[in-house]
Amino acid sequence: MRCRLEAARCNSCGRIAYPALKICPECRGREWETVTLSRSGKVVTSTVVHVPPNDLQMEGPYAAAVIETPEGARLMVQVVDCEPSKVLPGMELQLQFRRVRREGHPGILCYGYKGVPVG
Ligand SMILES: [Zn+2]
Repeated sequence: MRCRLEAARCNSCGRIAYPALKICPECRGREWETVTLSRSGKVVTSTVVHVPPNDLQMEGPYAAAVIETPEGARLMVQVVDCEPSKVLPGMELQLQFRRVRREGHPGILCYGYKGVPVG
């Protein structure tokens, strides 16, 4: 299944890789276990995108943020339901599963997680 919120944790050093990797960049380990990430995270950095890529069915400007989950995985999400300029480091986001984009063939949709401010 696509777009699952799962990361891999290195069995030797505990490093979290998202998306999953074959070889651990910390210790060169190759043994991983799957961890399901929390559907929440804190904003690490964010940028305001004024001109969205063509394949994104959305209107600019919007905020794109790198967030860190409690497990230590970092992922890039679009932040919705919020003024883009108000998305700041340290902000708590909840991840919600929503449609991200429509691919080339009509009717094929890709779903993914978007960040929604908590509270
Ligand atoms: Zn490792």
